[in-house]
Amino acid sequence: MDEQQSLPPHVLIFPLPLQGPVNSMVKLAQLLCFSGMHITLLLTENIHNRLVRHTNISSRFDQFAGFQIKTISDGLPEDHPREGSKFLELFDSLKLKTKPLFKYMLTSGLLCSDDGKRRPVDCIIADGVLGFTCDVADEIGLPIFCVRTISPCCLWIFFCLPKLIESGEYPFKDDDLDEPIRSVPGAENFLRRRDLPGFCRSGNLTDSNIQLYKTEGQENSRAYGLILNTFEELDGPTLNQMRTICPNIYPIGPLHANLKNKLYEEKTSLGPSSNSLWAEDRSCINWLNNQPFKSVIYVSFGSIATMTNEQLMEFWYGLVNSGQRFLWVIRPDSMAGDDRKNKIPADIAEGTKERGYIVGWAPQEEVLAHPAVGGFWTHCGWNSILESVYEGKPMICWPYFMDQQVNSRFVEEVWGLGLDMKDTCDREIVEKMVKDLMVVRKEEFLERANHMSKLAKNCLIEGGSSYSNFERLVKDIKSFK
Ligand code: UDP
Repeated sequence: MDEQQSLPPHVLIFPLPLQGPVNSMVKLAQLLCFSGMHITLLLTENIHNRLVRHTNISSRFDQFAGFQIKTISDGLPEDHPREGSKFLELFDSLKLKTKPLFKYMLTSGLLCSDDGKRRPVDCIIADGVLGFTCDVADEIGLPIFCVRTISPCCLWIFFCLPKLIESGEYPFKDDDLDEPIRSVPGAENFLRRRDLPGFCRSGNLTDSNIQLYKTEGQENSRAYGLILNTFEELDGPTLNQMRTICPNIYPIGPLHANLKNKLYEEKTSLGPSSNSLWAEDRSCINWLNNQPFKSVIYVSFGSIATMTNEQLMEFWYGLVNSGQRFLWVIRPDSMAGDDRKNKIPADIAEGTKERGYIVGWAPQEEVLAHPAVGGFWTHCGWNSILESVYEGKPMICWPYFMDQQVNSRFVEEVWGLGLDMKDTCDREIVEKMVKDLMVVRKEEFLERANHMSKLAKNCLIEGGSSYSNFERLVKDIKSFK
């Protein structure tokens, strides 16, 4: 065997440049480094700058000789608001402007390892939304694995979009959102029109989201395998449906906890620092330290969701009137338009001072693991759900877009882990749901949440499903060397 042959595989990891996918794929990169792979992490310049500003990204990989970060342009001007309402422009730009650059970087040696040996990439792991990476991998003859960081239940709906359209079920014939959906195998008993990703409501076949996502089954099945952030015990039935289209699936989640375990096992002094693109306000941990056991509802709607001032007020009144303690993340950019400038009414300001705490961005994993937190009011982003499931925290779901509408249905109807508040925004409903989750039905939800949390923990230990799937992934990557 020559020297090149005996070296570990050189893997290129390319996340979709949004908070959720970046978070998951940086963790995957760390996990693969621990398995001895040489990793090149390819980040868009915008994401790289923000990660460097807010995290210790480089120092987390210091111990891995074969690790390097490379950057690529996303093709948008620096001041473009990539998250928020214009985020579809990012997809267009990636496809148009980043694709040729990506191919050039791969073929011109710009992505070779910097370990002195200048080794080319052996294998690519890219976000499945970046379908062009499969084209490029095909063109230059490199094996590729896709990663999807959204929920499998939503991805399965994307896989079924062509069937929904062919069967004539979509576009819907009328606007009854409670009609059951028939063309998503396995979900016939609980899925309604209102639970499909929000963009399906437009009923427009030329909608850019429909165009983007209806090819997911086709795109992802081109890759050698599909890596998913979930675990068999949570998503087994959905995964089995997906295997009819993508036979080789690696459910290796919950990724954040998979990595935490690895860091613990390796006795590394580097904590599982977050990959936040905003500065974390850690003062909320001190505040939580002074609250009683499981008394606080943590409220956060992730990194993209925005709300109007009217919605904010309904939420606020609902929370204050519930009489429960709350920790609320209101990002500086979470208000739609100029709405943030309005004055907060005195009665809710008083209720907040007594029982609430507000931050711009929280260390969420740490917050959810905190003993004072008894529930999570979430927008149902997939990372947030997995983080909550792992920590055994029941949820109230206020989905905003994408997979969140589906996830919230699964939280209530399939997993029994909380309450789905979709399509409502009313202080009385908020008050009732918060009381139900934290007081009235507390035991019932906690029992199920504790059970699922145990399953999530067990799947990551030796012999567990995600542990074994990760070992299989490593073995398969090595086979391409
Ligand atoms: N997050 C965080 N602090 C916050 C809010 C969110 O660290 O105040 C993290 C959270 O832990 C999760 C990610 O941001 O890992 C959000 O991803 P998710 O998939 O839940 O939602 P998205 O932001 O993509 O809508």
